[in-house]
Parts: sequence; structure tokens; C-alpha cells
Amino acid sequence: MTEHTTNNAGIPVESDEHSLTVGSDGPILLQDHYLIEKMAQFNRERVPERVVHAKGGGAYGTFEVTNDVSQFTKADLFQPGKRTGMLARFSTVAGEQGSPDTWRDPRGFALKFYTEHGNYDLVGNNTPIFFVRDPIKFQDFIRSQKRRPDSGLRDNDMQWDFWTLSPESAHMVTWLMGDRGVPRTWRHMNGYGSHTYLWVNGGGEKFWVKYHIKTDQGIDFLTQTEADDLAGADGDYHRRDLYEAIRLGEAPSWTMHVQVMPFADAPDYRFNPFDLTKVWPHGDYPLIEVGRMTLDRNPEDFFIHIEQAAFEPANLVPGIGPSPDKMLLGRLHSYPDTHRYRIGPNYAQLPPNRPQVPVRSYAKDGPMRYEPSHTARPYAPNSYGGPAADTARFGEPAGWATEGEMVREAYKPRRDDDDWGQAGTMVRQVLDDAARERLVGNVSGHLLGGVSRPVLDRALQYWRNIDKDLGDRIATTVEEGAERPR
Ligand code: NDP
Repeated sequence: MTEHTTNNAGIPVESDEHSLTVGSDGPILLQDHYLIEKMAQFNRERVPERVVHAKGGGAYGTFEVTNDVSQFTKADLFQPGKRTGMLARFSTVAGEQGSPDTWRDPRGFALKFYTEHGNYDLVGNNTPIFFVRDPIKFQDFIRSQKRRPDSGLRDNDMQWDFWTLSPESAHMVTWLMGDRGVPRTWRHMNGYGSHTYLWVNGGGEKFWVKYHIKTDQGIDFLTQTEADDLAGADGDYHRRDLYEAIRLGEAPSWTMHVQVMPFADAPDYRFNPFDLTKVWPHGDYPLIEVGRMTLDRNPEDFFIHIEQAAFEPANLVPGIGPSPDKMLLGRLHSYPDTHRYRIGPNYAQLPPNRPQVPVRSYAKDGPMRYEPSHTARPYAPNSYGGPAADTARFGEPAGWATEGEMVREAYKPRRDDDDWGQAGTMVRQVLDDAARERLVGNVSGHLLGGVSRPVLDRALQYWRNIDKDLGDRIATTVEEGAERPR
């Protein structure tokens, strides 16, 4: 039996196709409530798209612990044998909702774990590093990657202008312009927590950690030509790939590892371990396996579960804390702030964001709230059985100790620390000849796409600072005006 259409109040409607008129043409009657409802609802179908990471896709799955790391953290999701439900969202950074998935860009790699102590969000990227190290530069960086105010066009000149005036970007730009700047699919890329985080074990011992979430499908990439062609042929290539793989029962998985730095190592480590533009070389801190995440369930409704998914680095559960990485500390504020604006103050009650443990917050009311507070009275303390804070944890060290004057000061490099070094190591020691050749092609192709002097001269010097030979090759290719290699 065909089910009948109803309006939003569940009342059967008389027609899906014909509005209520006087005679067969107009006037249309204002009392055609269903028509008015359809038009009004349609006008309100969008929430503002994310300013960054607007275009993406995602799926639900499970995280399963495969190794015992309880000596480093008491976080319940990382205890031996534990399985925790989760949501992942992958995205590009600069493009808008309808933009092609295969534009060269870092990819967001945002994870939400529904743990027994509330939601743990690990909001990473497919890169272990980032372009800037201070959140006061983030807005400028993103604007340089998006559109010009006059023409509404993206502009390579603007991108290189910002990058070359911000040499701390060199490591990340080298990454972006290399093979990993366009993953073949989201299934074929790694994720990284990127920031350093604090782990605390059951005995109160503290460690610094970095997360590496390695694809079990193998790393794979698209060449610039393949990516350009796909951008025209199928702008949703990555979104489609993930959805179809899961629909066909080919659930992708990733193995999570951590690098663990003893707490006391941080002050004297040769790189600043809280600088988001640097990695910890594997030789210094080897990877330790933690567990495996598998994505096996497509959301039943994209808008509800992916567009309204709200990841926030401030969602840290007992056993995990922030580090003094300034970018991370900035993000702790910025993400919930954008969700309140974009989705509304009660975004945490929506299906993808709702914790799978009881919420007993004294927060109340506001637009679209539908979960009751369960607090007996709307204030704490109260005498009517309302929840009380877990005072057993009160007085535990909340993280790290620090001291010093309030200052705004330039980055202070450590002994092996500069803006070019790790980028140069990648070029010389990680990439092979063919990957270096593609890097030259990708960079020179990008520079030939509208970068003018003096920005172009600065860009050529930037690459010579990373690696003299590579910079010379890029300069030769650009100055000969070569076509972008295909
Ligand atoms: P290793 O030789 O131990 O590690 C190099 C890592 O480079 C690999 O493990 C791989 O990371 C990654 N890699 C391989 N190909 C590419 C590519 N085309 N683009 C980006 N990354 C690639 O050396 P170190 O740990 O001493 O690091 C050397 C350099 O490698 C660093 O300066 C940094 O640029 C880069 N790197 C380092 C990482 C780290 O956390 N130590 C992580 C990734 C890159 P993966 O195994 O994660 O796929």
C-alpha cells in the first residue's frame, strides 16, 4: 500500500503537484498551507557552510584497541580490548560545498569517538603538520587560500604571497605540493592528530603524544593531470568513493599509532615539540600501535549526520589533555564557537553529536532544544537531587605547569629547529627521484598559474631555502615558461 504524503505536522495532503487556486489559474490562496510550508521550508534548507572544510563526506564505524597502551593513558577508549563507536568526516579545506574533491588541498580527518566518558574528538588532517603555528594567523592564511574580494576568484598569487611572507609554512607547502597533496581517495590517505596532546595514565603519570592513523588500504595519490580531469568529470569523486566502498561492503580501515614522548623530554628536545609546523622524527620517537578504526556504516541522511556533524578539539576525555601548542589552544575556542553560529547553540543534541552516555549538564533552553536537562533544578548546587561534579577528580593536576611574563614574541627556534630544515629533509631523504620530479612539476605549474613578481621571486627563493637544487630546477622550469607537466 502506498504511504500518503503528509505535511510537517503529519496531516495527509491532498496533492503533491497542484496548488490551491480559484479556477484553474491564479489567484493562489494563502490558505494553501501546504504550499506555503513547502516554499518556506525550501528557503531554509541550508545552514551556513563551514568557512573551512566545507566540502566533505563521512561515515560511522568502530574503533578497536589492538595493543596495550594503558601504561600511557587511562582514557577508556584506549584500554585493552575496548571497542568504541565512532564517526569520521573527511574534507577539503579551502573549497566551498560544491567544489571538486580533487583540488590540491590538505584533507580534514575528523574523528568523533562515543566513549564511556563522553565524546572524544580528534580533529586532525591528512598531514602531521600545518602552515602556521599561531592561531592569530589562521584567518589570514585561510583568506589567502580562498577568494579575492574584487573578482570572487581564487588566486595563486595570493596563496604564494602569504606563504612566502610566512616561512613557517615551508614544511606544509612542500607536503601539499608533493604527491600527498591530492590523495587518490580518502581511503588511501593517512590521518594525523597533528598537534601534540597530553596523555595521563591511571597513576597520574604524564606523556606527550602524537597520533598517526595509517591507512590499511595503502597510500595512493592522483597526479595533477588525473586530479584536474576528475575535477571536471566528477567533482564528488572522493565522497562517492567512500560511500560506494561502504555500500558494497568494502569497509575501509586505518591503524592508529602514537609517538610517545616522556613528559620530561619536552624542554630540551631538539625541535620544539609543540610547534605545529614540525614532526618528531620517527627515529627519535617510534610509532606504537594503539588500535584499528573501521568505517562500515553510511549515514542514512547526509545533512543530519555529516553536514551537522560538529567536531571540536575541546572534547577531551579523562586521560587526554591539550598541550601548550598555541594552534591547538586557539582551536579549543574556535570550533564550538563556529558550531553555535553555524548550527545553533544546541548542536550537541543532534544525532551525530549526541554523546552515547547520559548528559547531565546544567545548560538549558535555547533554539531547537529537545533533550531535557535531568538536573532537578536549573542551578548547582541544588537540594533536589541534581547532579554534582566529580570532586574525586578536583585537585588533580589539570595538565602542565608553566611560568613567564605575558608577551607577544617571535618563535624561538631550538637547536635543530628552523622553518626550512624538515621540509628539506623530506625533499632529500623521503622523496625519490620521480616524486621530486612531480614536485617540481606541481610547484612550477602552480607558479605559472598567475603568480606575478615580486611574489614569484620570493617563491623561487623560498624553494631554494628548502633545497637549493630543487629551487634551481623550479626556477628553470618557471623561467623558461614551460607548460605545466602533464
Ligand atoms: P622517516 O624516514 O622515518 O619517515 C618519513 C615519513 O615520510 C614516512 O614514514 C612517511 O610517513 C612520510 N612520507 C613518505 N612519502 C611522503 C610524501 N610524498 N609526502 C609526505 N610524507 C611522506 O623519517 P623521519 O621521521 O625522520 O622524518 C623525515 C621527514 O619525513 C620529516 O622531516 C617529514 O617531512 C616527513 N614525515 C615525517 C613524519 C613523522 O611523523 N616523523 C610523518 C610524515 C612525514 P607515514 O609513515 O606517516 O606515511
